[in-house]
Amino acid sequence: MSERKQFRVYVSKDYLKFNAAHFIAYKGFREALHGHNYGVSVQIEGDLGEQGYVLDFSIVKNVAKRVCDRLDERMLLPAQSDCLEIETRGSQVVVRFEDDEFAFPAKDVLLLPLVHTSAEELARYVAGEIRRELERDGIHVAGAIEVGVAETPGQTAYYRDR
Ligand code: ZN
Repeated sequence: MSERKQFRVYVSKDYLKFNAAHFIAYKGFREALHGHNYGVSVQIEGDLGEQGYVLDFSIVKNVAKRVCDRLDERMLLPAQSDCLEIETRGSQVVVRFEDDEFAFPAKDVLLLPLVHTSAEELARYVAGEIRRELERDGIHVAGAIEVGVAETPGQTAYYRDR
């Protein structure tokens, strides 16, 4: 746990969202396939730079939007699931859970490095992607990045990366 920074920026915008399909599955249980209009908020802690910013708001918004766009209109599947068998067969992704089998066009699927596609694990994934995108742009964030993923308004899971 690094020291908590005194400054932070917080971004929550109508366009920071993604519409996606998923289901939660764990041993002995599977939700029906369904979708959410997920909403994303981002909080970044840091020190005050020479310009008087922690980080320019436009940078935070752009990076968060890029990550949301990659998740938008996809079937989200957890590649590290301990109960789903996920196999790419030509242009299809086939998913098996106990007696059930799904086949999706591969281009509609996003395989994520998660065990479950819960809002909690999605928040951790999005926080990691935002930090990676910022680093790629040469921006090092000294403080924590905290992401909220809302499945519906008023129902949000948060992840804080340090
Ligand atoms: Zn759901």
